[in-house]
Amino acid sequence: MDQGAPRPRRRVAPDASVETLPGVGPKVAERLARLGLRTVRDVAEYLPRAFLDWGDATSFRELRFGEEATVECTVERVSLRPTRRRNLKIVEALVADRSGSRVAAIWFNQAWLADRLAPGTRLLVHGEIQPGRGLPSFKVERHEVAANGAGLHTVGLVPLYPASEEVSTAKLRELTAHALVLARWFPDPLPARLRHEAELPLRADALTRAHRPAERADFDHARERLALEELLVLQLGLLRRRRGLLEDVTAPPLGESGALVARYRESLPFTLTPEQEQAIAEIDGDLRGTSPMQRLLQGDVGSGKTVVALYALLRAVEHGHQGALMAPTETLAEQHFLTIEGVCRELGARCELLTSSVSARQHEAVRGRLATGEAEIVVGTHALIQEQVSFRSLAVAVVDEQHRFGVEQRRAIGAHAPHVLHMTATPIPRTLAQTVYGDLDVTEIARPPRNRKPIVTSWISHERGSDAYTRLRKHLTDGRQAYVVCPLVSESETIEARAAEAEAVRLQDAELRGFRVGCLHGKLPTAERRAVMDAFKHGELDVLVATTVIEVGVDVPNATIMIVQEADRFGLAQLHQLRGRVGRGADQSYCLLVSRSKEELTEGAQARLEALVEIADGFELSEVDLELRGEGQVLGTRQSGLPDLKFARLTRDRELIARAREWATELRDAEGPLDHEVEAFFGGAPDAQFG
Ligand code: ADP
Ligand code: MG
Repeated sequence: MDQGAPRPRRRVAPDASVETLPGVGPKVAERLARLGLRTVRDVAEYLPRAFLDWGDATSFRELRFGEEATVECTVERVSLRPTRRRNLKIVEALVADRSGSRVAAIWFNQAWLADRLAPGTRLLVHGEIQPGRGLPSFKVERHEVAANGAGLHTVGLVPLYPASEEVSTAKLRELTAHALVLARWFPDPLPARLRHEAELPLRADALTRAHRPAERADFDHARERLALEELLVLQLGLLRRRRGLLEDVTAPPLGESGALVARYRESLPFTLTPEQEQAIAEIDGDLRGTSPMQRLLQGDVGSGKTVVALYALLRAVEHGHQGALMAPTETLAEQHFLTIEGVCRELGARCELLTSSVSARQHEAVRGRLATGEAEIVVGTHALIQEQVSFRSLAVAVVDEQHRFGVEQRRAIGAHAPHVLHMTATPIPRTLAQTVYGDLDVTEIARPPRNRKPIVTSWISHERGSDAYTRLRKHLTDGRQAYVVCPLVSESETIEARAAEAEAVRLQDAELRGFRVGCLHGKLPTAERRAVMDAFKHGELDVLVATTVIEVGVDVPNATIMIVQEADRFGLAQLHQLRGRVGRGADQSYCLLVSRSKEELTEGAQARLEALVEIADGFELSEVDLELRGEGQVLGTRQSGLPDLKFARLTRDRELIARAREWATELRDAEGPLDHEVEAFFGGAPDAQFG
């Protein structure tokens, strides 16, 4: 370990401007800024993307013709030679290496070099040796003057940086070399104890090795060291954020589960799966305590999350408090309301619906009953968190499809209710969830109820689209119901709605003649939408032609087949959500993805559709999605509110994440330079994520 390398005399702060570096004035600083490099630290942390392996400097004598290598040598004589081609000039230098063997080093088209290469200059030349007239000749690809710190460009693993047209990779090599020297003075955030225990190098050494590794494995180890520290900072920040949120909030402890939820369990027409029981146990654990529940419930579509959520709401009710469920769309809120209200009525609990489309008078009446506590459970949209709404005693809030809400909205519900259960049907792998939602506890329902058969998914190109409708009609004549999902139209919801209506009319006269066809889209007035949903639910419609508004919440077990038109336009997660609308009963269900012909599709679209055909499990699909789209897209900052990571890759560094999380829990909080790091990383906005 190269610990304790000498420190430079000049000492600058990590956040000193890049202009501190030699050769950087305002102009270059501007160019560097366009690469995201503003401070000395930024430069020191700008890791190479690849390396050229140019090996150790050797001597000319050891090279065979055609071999490429780097040699240290001294210039003895220089000449500028014209060639037969008019514009081509050759600089030829007689050079000798330390062993005294000589070659004719040649440069093409760099006439100006002739003046620079005075006899006596010591050089490192990288190139290829070839037979020449008399002496062998050495075609120079790259050279540098062998002064202090030489070899930057020609010896060993030569780093290649993500450069720009304005800042070359060679310039970046020079700048990082300077920055690395200054970085010796920078504080090392990783506590010495952890560093020793895990046998990790100092930060400055890790940086140096990442830029100038002796072998490739050195780079990997150095990057891991830096990533680990970064992840530790991230985890500590998330812990702190969470504690900050909870600091002066205590939640009403909801004791043991009682008679109401016991009756609820009895009323269910099925027994809960072990996964659901486990989720309930974890939620119960939270609710018993006085520190607020902040839990994420992840589970695939149809895995039975809603049943668990209602349990949590009823736990509030049986202790004399209220519960609220917030959904991202009116359709979804209404669907939840239909289910939940039915159960509540049976149990003697009062349940209300509050969305922005209930009449003003109704709205006021519901608000009144929430304020007095007469209403015990409320289901609604973000209308629930508007100012005029106040609760007598809201103890538990459930946020369904939490990722569809903005940071502000999630924070607002948190301000109302002490115990919050966030739900998502777009699960991501657990280790990732622990990071992306690092300030939440994570519960998974990893498997659907046993009676579920995986949905059989096929991919059909549109020339054979009529086959899809033949299969669909077969289901209808058997008394089943079906969905047809219309193409995604990006321009506007209005255009999309119109297209869906037109398609419903077309299908009614063509493929679906003789069947009862309804249409559902986001632009329908609430009453009408509800009527359509009810009709479908009660079997008065055979087919629902719909936009993606059916993506969440529609629950009709008798619907056993779905056609998705132009499926290649949809994202992986979205298609998976859509097909979750079928397969909700015990019968085998089918999802037919109709797309343009294969040749017309991008590789990405093909991969998505193939994955859907092969994989039924949402967690597994989310891994594929990560691979296909990259983590930036899937875990986009808009969704997660996370700062960008320089060294760590959430998908690749799962082990490091787990380790960082352990460390963070053990440390509990950061001190000294580590504390500073946490503050800086989260940009002084400790609650930028959830509320
Ligand atoms: P999610 O909200 O995760 O999409 P739901 O809670 O809406 O899933 O459940 C989907 C369907 O499965 C519902 O019709 C529900 O009644 C049913 N269901 C839930 N849990 C079970 C279970 N343990 N056994 C059988 N059916 C269940
Ligand atoms: Mg649901």
